[in-house]
Amino acid sequence: MEASAVAASKKRRRVGTSKVDIDDVKRDEDLWFHDGSIVIVAGDTAFRVYQGLLMKQSEIFRDLFSMPQPVVVETMDGCPVVKVSDSPKDMKYLLEAIHSLGFFDPKKTLKFVAISALIRLGHKYAIEHLVDQALSLLKTEYPTSLTSWLVRWHKDYACKEDMDPIEVVYLARLTQTSSLLPTALYRCCQLESRLVEGTHRPDGTHVQLTADDLKRCMAGKTILVQEQVRVMLGCFDWEVSSTCNTKPRCRRSFLQAIAHVRNFPDIMAEFDPFREMDSADWFDKFGGLCDDCCNMFDGRVREARNDVWSNLPAYMDVEVEGWPT
Ligand SMILES: [Zn+2]
Repeated sequence: MEASAVAASKKRRRVGTSKVDIDDVKRDEDLWFHDGSIVIVAGDTAFRVYQGLLMKQSEIFRDLFSMPQPVVVETMDGCPVVKVSDSPKDMKYLLEAIHSLGFFDPKKTLKFVAISALIRLGHKYAIEHLVDQALSLLKTEYPTSLTSWLVRWHKDYACKEDMDPIEVVYLARLTQTSSLLPTALYRCCQLESRLVEGTHRPDGTHVQLTADDLKRCMAGKTILVQEQVRVMLGCFDWEVSSTCNTKPRCRRSFLQAIAHVRNFPDIMAEFDPFREMDSADWFDKFGGLCDDCCNMFDGRVREARNDVWSNLPAYMDVEVEGWPT
């Protein structure tokens, strides 16, 4: 069951602090408010922000700022300094989201690194509304509807480059957002060695699938390639439309197209039953199809894809409430 991201984990989290010398840190140019009341130091960067605002939004910050202070309190520009163990870039995204009203402006495109940072740190610091907003952006890239998926991943190639599926699986597991898992694991199945090696975030931290998710992908790859073969063979069946008026020509096109496919086993046996199958691309070079056969082919593709999509959670061995069937 999909749970509200932060509500799923009510336990107080250990935030961790760092031992950076404040003489070595630089002031962040964007997040250094002259009337800010606290300085957060993450890595080599200091942010002068508003303590009350952070305490209002996060019980974890509230606890952190309420911890007993040492006799000598470190300060910068007269503000107490709190050091955290997060990466400066991640912390900057979090603090910007808290301090900027237009951060989630729908007219702006938020980078995946920002979405990931907000989900991880929003979860860590228990800021539920930030996690929910960032997750909703991720859900538009990893949707539960096949129509949305095809638009996102076939028509808009630009958006898929940096949406690393290994990180998406990590975020889905972290926040118990099961609706992201079928598509994220499915995309992991298309990775080669990186599936096992994992991925690196911009700050250098390494993320890997868990052993259980890796097993899901190994089994999923086998199922997906079987489905891909089934989809291809089903769609290229040489039986022409019953209303076709050019049966010899259309039948010949079907036969030549499937003969062509046989020369490319990599197309037949890739891990992608949702690959684009435009009838013009496949048949025009072999004499084409009549309109009725084109419609029949498109219908076969649609039906085969819908069938795979409705079974995708089962193929990836995850349960998702409300997945379209
Ligand atoms: Zn025809």
